[in-house]
Amino acid sequence: MILKSETKAYQGFEQGPIRPPSEADSLLIRITRNCPWNRCAFCPVYKGTRFSIRPVAHVRQDIDAVARHVDSLRKLSEGADRISRAEVQAYGQKLPPDEIDAFYAAFNWFVGGMRSVFLQDANSLIIKPADLIEILRYLKARFPWISRITSYARSHTIDRISDSDLKAIRDAGLNRIHIGMESGSNAVLKLVEKGATQEIHIRAGLKVKQARMELSEYVMPGLGGKSLSDVHALETADALNRINPDFIRLRTLAVPDSVGLSELWKEGRFEKLTDRQTAEEILRFIETLDGITSFVQSDHILNLLQEVEGRLPEDRERMTAPLRAFLAMDSENQCLFQVGRRLGIFSSLQDMRDAFRMEKAKQASRQLGITPENVDATIDVLMKRFI
Ligand code: SF4
Repeated sequence: MILKSETKAYQGFEQGPIRPPSEADSLLIRITRNCPWNRCAFCPVYKGTRFSIRPVAHVRQDIDAVARHVDSLRKLSEGADRISRAEVQAYGQKLPPDEIDAFYAAFNWFVGGMRSVFLQDANSLIIKPADLIEILRYLKARFPWISRITSYARSHTIDRISDSDLKAIRDAGLNRIHIGMESGSNAVLKLVEKGATQEIHIRAGLKVKQARMELSEYVMPGLGGKSLSDVHALETADALNRINPDFIRLRTLAVPDSVGLSELWKEGRFEKLTDRQTAEEILRFIETLDGITSFVQSDHILNLLQEVEGRLPEDRERMTAPLRAFLAMDSENQCLFQVGRRLGIFSSLQDMRDAFRMEKAKQASRQLGITPENVDATIDVLMKRFI
């Protein structure tokens, strides 16, 4: 498939809708719009949109705009520890309206230390390797101090790139790739129309590592529902055991009304896991990871237990302790933690020792009429707010 870039005139600086949580301080540079696949049954992000490739010249204009504002911010901050809010507002007010977005992107990046850049949207590696290399070289030329350039990519796309092109892309500066593996089970991947198999995921992951790029694999606990929970945990761990990615990142399933999985759920063909069942699945998954040195992270707002984090194999016990502690609780306390966590009263299990927070969680449960019997159904509604 040959994908051509759009030939419309430059529309101004653009930002896409999402980035990985770990790229909060990165400069976001949009090189494509939306998702060329757009069929995953759990993903609401680009539904109803059309994929397009931005011309390299337009991407360069975006980079130039950010570079101009970074220069101005450097001048404003000369001799001072930081720039005052008043100075930033005064500078922003003098700008023409079509410069505002680039300015705030530059400002956020400036205050975040300007170390990394994330290329948007869902699958940047689908563009011609020569174009990607040109963009990467231009970024490095304008911002020679950056240490990391990263992107999302689909396994299916990486699988089709030649080793030499991938190495050239790495040499031009792309040094970390985030892949949405979601599952290593072919049954689950088929159910959710991921457009990849376990074999493709493994090949793509190994290819990224062979090109000396850092690899971050996203896994979606709960994606197989009740009937495929075991196979999802075991075969995903099996795939990751063969890849040994640098990072394994957990992002628990939520099912908004706009996605295909919601239809399957309504028709009774998909049964969503409760929080307790999801914790059991994650425990089984982590216990099956073997012979790898990946760093496991749980840094997504949708995850119940964000403290499930650490490096394998040495942190396995510490990483699984919160899962075991949650599973050992009685249903009343599990319910209180679920409510408190989803309402922002608790950020970890430790917070349940705080009497004030605990009382707030009890009050919220009473006011909302939440009990161990209805907690998961209520939380499913709350979680849709975070997608
Ligand atoms: S490939 Fe990624 S962005 Fe595209 S539909 Fe699937 S999950 Fe969403």
